Amino acid sequence: MDRKARISDIKRFAVHDGDGIRTTVFFKGCSLKCVWCHNPEGIGFRPQIAYYENKCIDCGECTQFCSRGSHRLTGAGHFYDRTSCVQCGECAAHCLGSALIYYGREITVEELLPLLLEDRDFYETSGGGVTLSGGECLMQADFCAKLLRRLKENGIHTAVDTCGFVPRESFNKVLPWTDVFLYDLKAWDEEAHIRCTGHSNRRILENLRYLDAKGASLELRIPYVPEYNDDQMEKIAEFARTLNNVRKVKILPYHRYAGSKYDALGMENTLPETLPEDAAVEKIKQLFDI
Ligand code: SF4
Ligand code: SF4
Repeated sequence: MDRKARISDIKRFAVHDGDGIRTTVFFKGCSLKCVWCHNPEGIGFRPQIAYYENKCIDCGECTQFCSRGSHRLTGAGHFYDRTSCVQCGECAAHCLGSALIYYGREITVEELLPLLLEDRDFYETSGGGVTLSGGECLMQADFCAKLLRRLKENGIHTAVDTCGFVPRESFNKVLPWTDVFLYDLKAWDEEAHIRCTGHSNRRILENLRYLDAKGASLELRIPYVPEYNDDQMEKIAEFARTLNNVRKVKILPYHRYAGSKYDALGMENTLPETLPEDAAVEKIKQLFDI
């Protein structure tokens, strides 16, 4: 049987997920829980419905497709009851106002591959390819390995965007088929890492050293979140200088654009208030010689 992955999205023409023009597959489920997460739909493994009330045109189409009666159209407009919803996704497939989005589609490698090969010409002319991201894509490492292998057989450049908090074995599965790892580093001190993500960073640092020793090509991606990890930047920069295969470092200044997603998903919005200042970002870039 062809195994399926659970994904939250497929984004074509992505330009921030590695070199060139890329298609990014966002896998569902993450092993960390970062306080600043801008992909809240990727945190949990279970399917979710996002409801954007401001896009609803009160057409009532969704009421026809919900066996649970979770959608109602009253004189006051459309009402969605999240508590009775079982996240089957039927309503989102028929929503006329694009107000409902289903995160949690299940897909096989054979279904996904043709979609990813559609933009091959753009990859070739821009030096791009396909990126697996999330959530944490390597929580579904067997699927990733199979997909990456099929992409390499088709001559596509591959990138794996990872938080690093997965068993070593997961990296071994994808290593032969991955051209570059986009590897997040959020804090150097263990305590700071636990405060920011809920987990120790020991395994993350060990996995990164392991990949480096294996000669894997690395792009370090460092979220900068004032009051959470600004005191970690010098230590991360010092550590990065000890690695041999870092081809690029990217600083990712925190933003709050994801706020509306938390609301639409019915999740508590715990995003930090403080935003980075340009001068501070520039200073951090200097630390990393970029
Ligand atoms: S996801 Fe399924 S159960 Fe939930 S509201 Fe939509 S149709 Fe109803
Ligand atoms: S189908 Fe979409 S736009 Fe129409 S009432 Fe339902 S949620 Fe609103």
